[in-house]
Amino acid sequence: MLVVMQAHATPDQVRAICERIETLGFRAHTIEGTQHFAIAVTGDLRGIETCGLDEMPGVQDIVRISKPFKLVSRESKPENTVVRFANSDVTIGGEEFAIIAGPCSVESRDQAMAVAEKVAAAGAKMFRGGAYKPRTSPYAFQGMGVEGLKILAQVRERFGMLIVTEAVDNEALEAIEDYADMIQIGARNMQNFSLLKRAGRSPLPVLLKRGLSATLEELLMSAEYIMSEGNRNVVLCERGVRTFADHSRNTLDLSVIPAAHKLSHLPIISDPSHGTGKRDRVTPLALASAAVGADGLIIEVHNEPDHALSDGAQSLYPEQFVNMVSQLRGILPVVHRTLSTEPAKPRATSQAGAQ
Ligand code: PEP
Ligand code: MN
Repeated sequence: MLVVMQAHATPDQVRAICERIETLGFRAHTIEGTQHFAIAVTGDLRGIETCGLDEMPGVQDIVRISKPFKLVSRESKPENTVVRFANSDVTIGGEEFAIIAGPCSVESRDQAMAVAEKVAAAGAKMFRGGAYKPRTSPYAFQGMGVEGLKILAQVRERFGMLIVTEAVDNEALEAIEDYADMIQIGARNMQNFSLLKRAGRSPLPVLLKRGLSATLEELLMSAEYIMSEGNRNVVLCERGVRTFADHSRNTLDLSVIPAAHKLSHLPIISDPSHGTGKRDRVTPLALASAAVGADGLIIEVHNEPDHALSDGAQSLYPEQFVNMVSQLRGILPVVHRTLSTEPAKPRATSQAGAQ
C-alpha cells in the first residue's frame, strides 16, 4: 500500500503518518519522487483497508500496489533508482554505464594486482573477485576467505576501484562489510532468505544475481526481501539460466532486462561470463546487453586464464577486455549511455576496513 502525500505536505505530517503506520505494526518506507513524496506500507496487509490513513492531514491518496513485490515495483517508485557508493562518484543505474571487472576468484596478491592493473587502465571503476566461492564440488577451491578480502582492500587502495565480492553466508557477509563496497549474492543463494534479510540490514549496496532457474518475479521477490529490511541500494543481475541449450554453460536471457526495467525501478546489469561460460561469446553478449538497455556489466578477466583456479574458460584475457570496452563505446551513445574515459583514481587515504 502506498500513501501518496500532497505536494505541500509538511515533514511533521509525514512523520505523523510514519508513526501511525509503525504503531499499527507495519513498516513505513519513505519514497522521494520528483512528482510526489510517498510512504510505502509493508507487512501483512491482508484484510486491511486504509487504517484511517486517508483521513490524516497531508495525505492525497492511498494506492494499492497490485504486484506481490512492493518496494521493488515501479508502481511504488516510477523513477529509476541510481545506486551510489560512499566516498565515490561511481553510480549504477544512472546515465553512466557501469563496468565491474576482475577474476572469478582472488587467488593471490600478485594475481589480483596484475588483473586489477589491466582492468583499471581499461576503464573499470569497480573490481570483482571472490574471496568466498560457492563451488559445485566441495573439493574445488573454496576461496581465500579473509586473506582474499584483505587483498581486495589493497586493490581498492592502490587503484581506486570499488570492490564487489560475494557473501556465501551471514558470516562471510559480516567480514565483507569491513573490506568491500558492494555485497554480491550469488545465483545459488538468490533464495537464501536469511542471507537476503541480513544483506537488507547492511549499509552496503547489494548485487543480487538471478538464480539458475528463477523467474523474473522470483528475482524481484528476493530483491523485495532485501529492500523490506531497509536497504534500498539493490542492483539486479542477469547471469544466465538453465535451459536445454547445450552450446553454452547457461542461456543469457537478455529479454529479462527490458522486462525488469518495466516492472521495477532497480538497475539491472548483465553477466555474459557466467551467462555463456565461453570466452569467445563474452564480448558479443556484452555488446548485446548494452544494446538492450542493461545498466552495466560484470565481466570475468584473468591474467592467466588457463591457470585460473575457477572459471578460466569464460575469463577474458586483459587485451580482450580492452577490446570489449572499446567496442562498447560504439554502442553506448545509441542507447544514451556514457562511459567515462577517466580511469579510477586511487584514494587519498587508506580505506581498508573503513567505509
Ligand atoms: C561468480 O560471480 O563468480 C559466481 C559464482 O556467480 P553466479 O552466482 O552467478 O554463479
Ligand atoms: Mn565465476
